[in-house]
Amino acid sequence: MRPFDYAEPTTLAEACALLAAREAARPLAGGVALILLLRQRLLAPGLVVNLKHIPGLAEVVWDDRRGLQLGALVRHRTVELDPLVRAHCPVLAEMARHIGSVQMRHRGTLGGNLCHADPAQDPPTVLTALDATVTLVDAQGERTLPVAEFVVGYYETALRPGELLRAVHVPPLPPRAGAAYARWSPRGATDMPLLGVAAVLALDRDGVCTDARLAVGNCAERPLRLTAVETALRGERLDAARLERISALIPDHLDPPSDIRGSGEYRRRMARVFGARALHAALLRARAAANGAGTS
Ligand SMILES: Cc1cc2nc3c(=O)[nH]c(=O)nc-3n(C[C@H](O)[C@H](O)[C@H](O)COP(=O)(O)OP(=O)(O)OC[C@H]3O[C@@H](n4cnc5c(N)ncnc54)[C@H](O)[C@@H]3O)c2cc1C
Repeated sequence: MRPFDYAEPTTLAEACALLAAREAARPLAGGVALILLLRQRLLAPGLVVNLKHIPGLAEVVWDDRRGLQLGALVRHRTVELDPLVRAHCPVLAEMARHIGSVQMRHRGTLGGNLCHADPAQDPPTVLTALDATVTLVDAQGERTLPVAEFVVGYYETALRPGELLRAVHVPPLPPRAGAAYARWSPRGATDMPLLGVAAVLALDRDGVCTDARLAVGNCAERPLRLTAVETALRGERLDAARLERISALIPDHLDPPSDIRGSGEYRRRMARVFGARALHAALLRARAAANGAGTS
């Protein structure tokens, strides 16, 4: 590891000023990814800015109109266990349960995960399907971006130099909606997934699909929304047979790369299988929500 200066600001303004002043400065959240990159000398920042003493960045807040707000430093373990997340956005808590090991989940943060932008990570896929947004802050002020636009490529985000991710916002699901995530990790449960599929389905009072969102992770350099499959779902009275038929369209819209976790062709086949699982689970939850069983 190359030597670097180190700072522990206590306000967001101070952190932004530090990051703006030095070209090769890096924020530090949980350090799960950053410390590895420093040790492997893949990064050599002149300054590391630890965010952990800035108040408010680890908070989870629920608002009936705006939905869930998760501060950038909220840890994966908190997403997994927090009562507000579990009550209002259970798919996020379920997703977090599958991230790495318990030790890793106690250190890694949601903001660090999104800013690292490894295409194999789980949260970007689920947050894309949930139409989540991020709030970014720098010395000039704040801006908001959809997660789908924040992650722009392999380990690449829309963050500008000196900019910090402050919070993630997840809007409430529509009425009579359900969300689910299915991931496949053939090299063991604590490994990053070969792929993951997140689905959101909403129904009208007659059980016809009014809204469908389907995001596939780790089949391209960033999560993909399968809009053609979403269109095929909307307006349909969904049942198991229809979902199977529509899931068969998924591979047509993917051209995934091969890597150590599996070939591109295997990914396409598994995307159909896990896409169908996510859609089936989302449908069951949407029906439960329609029957008054609460948020799904
Ligand atoms: C063994 C192992 C298994 C893993 N398994 C999974 C898995 O199954 N699923 C999964 O999704 N992920 C997995 N991960 C990845 C892990 O979740 C992320 O690397 C982690 O969440 C990064 O968060 P962090 O808080 O440690 O970020 P850090 O390592 O502190 O930072 C990561 C990057 O983001 C930048 N950054 C951090 N916070 C901010 C901010 N607020 N604003 C701007 N930039 C910021 C840093 O400068 C750095 O470039 C695994 C990692 C390991 C090592």
